[in-house]
Amino acid sequence: MAEWVLRVGSRSLQGLRSNNEDRFVVDVPGGFFLVADGMGGQERGEIASGLAAEIIPRAVSDRLADTAADACVCQAFQDAHQAIVREGQSQPEGKRMGTTAVCALHRGEKVYVASLGDSRAYLIRGDSVEQLTVDHSVAYALVQNGALTVEEAKQSPYQHYLYKFLGCSNLHDPADVRPFAPQPGDWLLLASDGLTNFLSEKDLIEGPLRHKEPQSWVDLLVQLALDRGSRDNVTCVVVAFDRG
Ligand code: CA
Repeated sequence: MAEWVLRVGSRSLQGLRSNNEDRFVVDVPGGFFLVADGMGGQERGEIASGLAAEIIPRAVSDRLADTAADACVCQAFQDAHQAIVREGQSQPEGKRMGTTAVCALHRGEKVYVASLGDSRAYLIRGDSVEQLTVDHSVAYALVQNGALTVEEAKQSPYQHYLYKFLGCSNLHDPADVRPFAPQPGDWLLLASDGLTNFLSEKDLIEGPLRHKEPQSWVDLLVQLALDRGSRDNVTCVVVAFDRG
């Protein structure tokens, strides 16, 4: 079978914020992609997302030779988590820095998607869109136990309260790693909530239909989020999978 050819688009906009706490990684030869959205006062959020963007790809590639891909990703999240906790130890509890992270590792015939926090991954395949990640927000947890509908959660004040992220106290569970088998024509989108809060399923389906290149779609999406009122940092990475 022909080799995979990946085309990628990426962009991060500061938007109306005074700084950009989002970070992203695009490594096409390594088949690795990541979006991280930092949290914390002053520059702390940027430090946390920067540590995730630096440590996770390195920790994955250091282990890939002798460790299964899903375990590599899981352990890389733990490494970044511990580094962020160490870095934040001088901060008072409740004011410590943290970051979300969503990443995708393409290895052979599988893509391993992992996340902590509320940055998301979506798989767009033909006319279907699937969210591959779970939001670790209080509102989404209330959806899962039946207390809120998805629509109610979107309006909930708890939508942005995260209970699981890199750097949080008592991170007992490892990151969820979700593998899928890519098909030619699949587009994978990774994004921070500054983007995903302002997009519909219809917007996502239109990407591969209307755009030849992921970059032109990414440019449109980040602008769309700002035009629709996003006051947050807006970050998006889109990977298109094809056979050469
Ligand atoms: Ca954000």
